Amino acid sequence: MHYSHLLIPTLKEVPAEAEAQSHILLFRAGMIRKLASGIYDYLPLGLRVLRKVEAIVRQEMNRAGAQEVLLPAVQPAELWQESGRWQIYGKELLRFQDRHGRDCCFGPTHEEVITDLVRREVHSYRQLPLNLYQIQVKFRDEIRPRFGLIRGREFIMKDAYSFDIDEAGAEHTYRGMYEAYSRIFRRCGLTFKAVEADTGPIGGSFSHEFMVLAETGEDFLASCLSCDYAANLEKAEVPAMEGGSGPSPEGAPNLVATPGVRTVEEVAAFLMVQPEDIVKTLIYETDLGPVAVLIRGDHEVNEVKVRNLLGVTELLLAGPDRVRELTGAEVGFAGPQGLSIPVYADQAVAALPAMVTGANQTGYHLTGVHPERDLHFAKVADLRQVTEQDPCPRCGGALTILKGIEVGHVFKLGFKYSKALNAKFLDADGEEQFIFMGCYGIGVSRIVAAAIEQGHDADGIIWPLPLAPFQVGLVPINTNDEKTRETAQRLHDEFEAAGLEVLLDDRDERPGVKFKDMDLLGLPLRVVVGPKTLAKNQAEVRQRRSRDVSLVDLDRLLPYVKDLIDQGTP
Ligand SMILES: [Zn+2]
Repeated sequence: MHYSHLLIPTLKEVPAEAEAQSHILLFRAGMIRKLASGIYDYLPLGLRVLRKVEAIVRQEMNRAGAQEVLLPAVQPAELWQESGRWQIYGKELLRFQDRHGRDCCFGPTHEEVITDLVRREVHSYRQLPLNLYQIQVKFRDEIRPRFGLIRGREFIMKDAYSFDIDEAGAEHTYRGMYEAYSRIFRRCGLTFKAVEADTGPIGGSFSHEFMVLAETGEDFLASCLSCDYAANLEKAEVPAMEGGSGPSPEGAPNLVATPGVRTVEEVAAFLMVQPEDIVKTLIYETDLGPVAVLIRGDHEVNEVKVRNLLGVTELLLAGPDRVRELTGAEVGFAGPQGLSIPVYADQAVAALPAMVTGANQTGYHLTGVHPERDLHFAKVADLRQVTEQDPCPRCGGALTILKGIEVGHVFKLGFKYSKALNAKFLDADGEEQFIFMGCYGIGVSRIVAAAIEQGHDADGIIWPLPLAPFQVGLVPINTNDEKTRETAQRLHDEFEAAGLEVLLDDRDERPGVKFKDMDLLGLPLRVVVGPKTLAKNQAEVRQRRSRDVSLVDLDRLLPYVKDLIDQGTP
């Protein structure tokens, strides 16, 4: 392929709103352009990378026994009303009406559509199991699309849905998908981790997320240094604490004036105590009314755990007016004593022998509060986020907290959609049963960005070999020199004939410009031909990642480059 024939509008400047390196570099390398907020054009090189991801995903899904389908992007409201999601999905669902005034949406996901297809076509256990997938454009109307392809509004996903006769069958399918996903991300050349994930309001079943490890990731995960345990921070458990809070301090709690002292740090400094001696009282609004949650001053609340414990979907910190109404004090002075709303305590709070809390009186705190003697809890549970100081819940080893970008999710759904849409089959005894479902997503366009978050330097992108738009960039450094031009063209033809993907930079540009662009594009190998090396019948081969440079005889060049690629070196 010739550079001059392709649309590769590279740029020096960085787009104003771009925060993530992948966004900046995809833009500067001329691989994507923004059409509207969270909506992007894929230019020829960007599309080549996307197609490579798709090809790997497709091969591994087919190998795992899944069948490809293509479902419509536009979906009728009736199906979403049947599942109940038309009401609860919120503004992220892009809704509109067709010319007949019928409600429709642009699909952010396809559980309803696929379940509808299967309920119409599958009637017997003999037709199961079934695993159907598609690679398709989806739309989620994010309020704040960010980071380019990482969190756009329009994106490309592989979504698969499995249908089994029972839970054991579904378990088997889930395992198969888990293994297929591991192969997909390995083949993409990504460093990733499969972590236990929260199942959300569906509950009951289990799920795993696949995270590409990157400093710029928005997700946090806890990973054990000694065993296989890894979990999304939302899900990571704190081991159950042994024993109670011990004997209570002498005398009743003390009311102490703490004028204008609100935060944990301010209270600790003012009363000369440690943050772990202070208890934060967080007031939340929920579907079940207001509640208070107690967390030790040096810990962070885990709202997913709180939501799961209470069995609610809505959980919002109460505003200042509501806090005043419920506690009688300004924000910063709420405490558990005498509250008329249910109080939920993290287990580390219930184990404190004496604590400092707000006094529900503006400008005052209480010291010497004992959990058993002075407080009443609706429930004590694990309600906080783990830290690197906590032991692994499985083996007691040390935990490390890492950052990642979620690129895949496998999920055991159960009967949620088959029951809502009445998808049944006849079992071997002729009895009607609901189909047991699973769903499995991969963010195809997000992988393109995640690969860059993991592979880049100050000069540009460093593609993993399997995703690179071309494997080799061929750079003649003086296109006015006939021998250079002819040799470059001959090498290009030979490389292509040998099945290599090669981009020949045939532009009449200075070598510096060509080198800069080649680094920015991130092709794994660069081959430079010029009058100087040609005089010795040689060419220069440079590896983008290691920056290793070798001079190679022209007659050995093709096997040399082929070897590097076959070994997956660059
Ligand atoms: Zn462990």
